[in-house]
Amino acid sequence: VAMLLIACAPPAPTAAPTKAPTAPPTKAPTPTKAPAGPSGKLEIFSWWTAGGEAEGLEALLKVFHERYPDVEVINATVAGGAGVDARAVLATRMQGGNPPGSFQVHAGHELIDTYVVAGQMEPVTFLYKQEGWLDVYPQDLIEILSYEGDIWSVPVNIHRANVLWYNKAIFEKNNLQPPATMEDFFKAAETLKAAGITPLALGETWTVVHLFETVLLGSLGPEAYAGLWTGKTDWSGPEVTKALNNFDRMLNYVNEDYAALSWDQATQLVIDGTAAMNIMGDWAEGYFKAQGWTPGVEFGWAPSPGSAGAFDALSDSFGLPKDAPNREAVIAWLKVCGSKDGQDAFNPIKGSIPARTDGDRSLYDDYLKSAMDDFAKDTIVPSLMHGAAASPSWQQDVIDAVSLFIAKRDVDAFQKALSSACVEAGVCK
Ligand code: BGC
Repeated sequence: VAMLLIACAPPAPTAAPTKAPTAPPTKAPTPTKAPAGPSGKLEIFSWWTAGGEAEGLEALLKVFHERYPDVEVINATVAGGAGVDARAVLATRMQGGNPPGSFQVHAGHELIDTYVVAGQMEPVTFLYKQEGWLDVYPQDLIEILSYEGDIWSVPVNIHRANVLWYNKAIFEKNNLQPPATMEDFFKAAETLKAAGITPLALGETWTVVHLFETVLLGSLGPEAYAGLWTGKTDWSGPEVTKALNNFDRMLNYVNEDYAALSWDQATQLVIDGTAAMNIMGDWAEGYFKAQGWTPGVEFGWAPSPGSAGAFDALSDSFGLPKDAPNREAVIAWLKVCGSKDGQDAFNPIKGSIPARTDGDRSLYDDYLKSAMDDFAKDTIVPSLMHGAAASPSWQQDVIDAVSLFIAKRDVDAFQKALSSACVEAGVCK
């Protein structure tokens, strides 16, 4: 009620206008210099709406406003982690010839296999040359962004998918160490269950798929995991069966209402202390911090079980749609996305590390410093759920297989569905 009263109160009296009304110009003013920069409206489309990610976007927009004060940004967001809902809205708009100025998209298959092959994007190679980015982005990342000799988007960050987050107080109280292996995980989970705490916080379907990819990675190791997406690893082999059994067993330790929770609501269970762990990308770090938690104090982290030495990577990027309204302002936006100060304003809040190699390390907290170190030395593998590993249609087939699995818990049928998804994708025979 109090809030409503305040909202309805008449506005505070404003000071009398200080500016005298200007006399109508007698003749058109002669332009003396070229306009300072882009102006007008610019629509930026993303799914950054939850705690941490929304604040990160604000910080990036602030850098943009400071540099291009004449552009009015329309911050168009569609809620739904991993872009599950935003991507559908975007597809409709792109089909209808109504692209936003620029949109968030995962680097790799998610962009290349869709709007790039459909001829709906403009290459941004010229910006890489002009801004000197060819020297500051890692070569491997540039390759992921490339198709037919051109580069197609500008990454703002690198996220890690294979992280286990845990509530430190609960772990201390129960004498637990962060589980390094699958077996450690099951032991810790039993202890927690006996203590009446949900061992693992889980959310809606895409977060189950996210968990699943980390279990594949932790069970198979980085080489065999990466081979799943290139056809080198046999989806019907015994290693995969073992991974699926681990996944099946893990699902015995999650909150019952998982299907109804968004990723951040699942992470919140760890803050509330009803759950002890959450396996989620490091945007969860941004969420913890946005809720006032400090890394290493209230929450700890470890590679998801079995995945030490591997970095399951993904990257958020922005591109230049063909016929984007206000192209000049879009280019200004992309320059900020690729800039050192833009990335160093965004990433410490977002819970990601800069995609550029020259970020200012002193601005990053202990978790993010550890992620930088791991990114430099670990084996990098591509994330499935976040657009890097497989085409969107293959990804969808895996999502469907996982959905069916959580309903039926039939490992054999699950493995068959996954094997045929690889064949369907044209990667396996
Ligand atoms: C994106 C992150 C985002 C997360 C949750 C991921 O797919 O890469 O930037 O924070 O989804 O919305």
